[in-house]
Amino acid sequence: MIVKIVFLLALLAGIFLFFRVKDKKSVEKKADDKLYAVDMKQDSICGAFVEETTKYKVKLHDKIYYFCSEECKNKFIEQNTNP
Ligand SMILES: [Zn+2]
Repeated sequence: MIVKIVFLLALLAGIFLFFRVKDKKSVEKKADDKLYAVDMKQDSICGAFVEETTKYKVKLHDKIYYFCSEECKNKFIEQNTNP
């Protein structure tokens, strides 16, 4: 009888752990989805990825360039305005 109860508990623990791992994976998946939901643009100066909503952007030849900081933005302007 006791052996049966122990076996049942082990089985329940196994099911519990299985679902816990599954839940953790689905949460991680959701976090990934959120990460890719925002359109990311690459900073052409330092290569960093920035959100499209950044305030550091420059419009040049009908194309918009995105930057991670004022510094990168200024560097880009400098490179594209000086001959
Ligand atoms: Zn940058």
